[in-house]
Amino acid sequence: MTDFNPRDFRQQFPALSQGQCYLDSAATALKPQAVIEATLNFYSQEGATVHRSQHHAAQTLTAHYERARMLVAQWINAPRPENIVWTRGTTESVNMVAQGWLRPRLQPGDEIIVSQAEHHANLIPWLMVAEQCQAQVITLPVDEHGIADITALSALLNNKSRLLALTQMSNVTGGMPDIARAIALAHANGTVVLIDGAQGVVHCPPDVQQLDIDFYAFSGHKLYGPTGIGVLYGKTELLENMAPWQGGGKMLTQASMTGFTPQAVPHRFEAGTPNIAGVIGMSAALKWLTTVDLHAAEKYTQNLANLAEEQLKQIDGFRSFRCQNSSVLAFDIAGVHHSDLVALLAEQAIAVRAGQHCAQPLMDALGISGTLRASFAPYNNEQDVMRLVSAVEYALDLLAG
Ligand code: PMP
Repeated sequence: MTDFNPRDFRQQFPALSQGQCYLDSAATALKPQAVIEATLNFYSQEGATVHRSQHHAAQTLTAHYERARMLVAQWINAPRPENIVWTRGTTESVNMVAQGWLRPRLQPGDEIIVSQAEHHANLIPWLMVAEQCQAQVITLPVDEHGIADITALSALLNNKSRLLALTQMSNVTGGMPDIARAIALAHANGTVVLIDGAQGVVHCPPDVQQLDIDFYAFSGHKLYGPTGIGVLYGKTELLENMAPWQGGGKMLTQASMTGFTPQAVPHRFEAGTPNIAGVIGMSAALKWLTTVDLHAAEKYTQNLANLAEEQLKQIDGFRSFRCQNSSVLAFDIAGVHHSDLVALLAEQAIAVRAGQHCAQPLMDALGISGTLRASFAPYNNEQDVMRLVSAVEYALDLLAG
């Protein structure tokens, strides 16, 4: 690992070579050259598929593919690579648990506790399965900062609580609930916990064993990897007792016209030809990340968000929804609609996002219709902050007429 040097880090991102002001990393991270090269190399040199063909290239690629599973396991300290299931992303991971694990167990009247801070990816799959089984989604409220209020959890847990769904880090406020406490409370009640790690895995990779997490879901594309690849971590006994969600090739050991025998975990959850390029790219992202001083990079990123918040605070009517030390800065400006402001920022080539950020219930809890969101990564610099601030000032002048 080398010392974190912001300039060297930034240079590894070709998408920034024209000086783009990219402040939308909470939506998706840009890709470093190492990931681009690994993907290019796969398509140009490694023509094969995995776990099927016997020829040499296919065997080599299968080994590469399985080594990537090991790298992911190490990243979150999963006990074994078999605890890692490849999915399309966080969304698919959550749906897989909702349909494969929860649905066969969910009885009419049962309860699923979901915090009001959740991204729709960690809400809609639970609403769907609740409807399918005449069960109910119970709201874990948020505190005044928009963070899931774990002190309210004990009162919600009862003998009908089957699962708790909680985000490790909000994509709006950057707030991090005390997941260790939530997990302990849920487990004391016999309730299984799914943690949405889509944002958390980037800024604060968990030790899933130490935290005793049951299911952990995340996406490759926020972690500098390709889109369309993600991960579901599950404890061994949970995955062993989870039904395959999709059927198809290579998820079984034998098939007849009347039935089939599922493969061992995790392959029974990976029906069909997988996203091999995605796995190769994600593996390259994780290898590359081991060369980065992540602690220093995170500190640097938080300082950029601090600076942006301090500067924007000078603007009349500015209100921040940022939780302390987050690299995500969601804000609004009194009297200005976020969609007007984001359009004017886009005209000035500032890449930020506006709206509800797929977290409509959180917007309701905060009593707002949406926010602007600038999200920072270690490839940003002070110049990006200053460009954002002056673009906001310019847009406000225009809107004031
Ligand atoms: N949860 C959170 C907190 C997120 O930020 C996102 C992505 N915006 C998701 C879930 C869904 O991730 P994906 O779209 O990659 O499945």
